[in-house]
Amino acid sequence: MKLRLASFDTLIDINGLHDELSYIRHEGDEVRIGALTRHRDLLESQELFTLFPIFRDAEHVIADPVVRNRGTLGGSLCQADPSEDLSAVCTALNASCVIRGSDGERVVSMEDFYRGPYETAVGDAEILTEVRLPVRPGGSSAYRKVERRAGDWAVTSSAAAVWMSEGKITDARVGLAAVGPNTTGIPAISELLRGQAPSDELFSRAGALAAEACTPAQDLRGTVEYKRHLANELTKRALNASVERINEQGA
Ligand SMILES: Cc1cc2nc3c(=O)[nH]c(=O)nc-3n(C[C@H](O)[C@H](O)[C@H](O)COP(=O)(O)OP(=O)(O)OC[C@H]3O[C@@H](n4cnc5c(N)ncnc54)[C@H](O)[C@@H]3O)c2cc1C
Repeated sequence: MKLRLASFDTLIDINGLHDELSYIRHEGDEVRIGALTRHRDLLESQELFTLFPIFRDAEHVIADPVVRNRGTLGGSLCQADPSEDLSAVCTALNASCVIRGSDGERVVSMEDFYRGPYETAVGDAEILTEVRLPVRPGGSSAYRKVERRAGDWAVTSSAAAVWMSEGKITDARVGLAAVGPNTTGIPAISELLRGQAPSDELFSRAGALAAEACTPAQDLRGTVEYKRHLANELTKRALNASVERINEQGA
């Protein structure tokens, strides 16, 4: 509203739902996070850090403590800003979004959640209530971001999640922020990495795919070429950091 991207006759403050929709619950093979969970809670949750260290990586570099004390996971995803850090995180973690309206509830993947910049699948009479993250064994994750100054939006960032068994990658997902109209996964990277043993050469090829797949625009934050370079380099680093964390768990 401040940017005059939208104006409304009526504004509903959903902070009254905070008690109901602010939680981080690990149940079985899933973590459920209420849409009104604030950045600060995502940053400080030890349980989330243990399962998905990528959240703490990202939260450390989102805005500043004032914003993190008030901003929510749901607000971040629903803002659908192409530079939004948590969208890349949720994409890498293969999250699904629970949308509720007077007609009931539906669950959509991150791929289906975004309709375009600043546009989501949430309808006029609906809200996002929960984000669900599958918990799979042998996995870890990492987030790497370049920003112009501390707390700024990303010039480019890369979110990676990797799952391994017996020295081989069983699955991997990468999401990029700030280099296209939406944050979406890069299936070609997942296909490249599945079944392979991690190596510098393999992750260099994954970085090259990230640079190829993104569609950055030149702006005050950098040139197209610079952002593609960052997509490449940050993807390599996020994948390497994920694998290092998996190895530490096994140590
Ligand atoms: C100075 C500043 C710096 C920032 N820097 C960063 C940064 O570096 N990285 C980053 O990722 N983000 C950054 N942000 C954004 C920040 O992460 C906010 O948390 C985010 O904008 C959402 O705020 P909010 O939860 O208050 O949602 P709001 O601003 O209240 O809402 C955002 C949009 O989502 C809708 N909405 C909110 N909740 C729901 C819901 N549950 N269901 C349906 N629709 C909903 C609202 O109607 C609105 O359209 C920054 C923000 C500021 C002000």
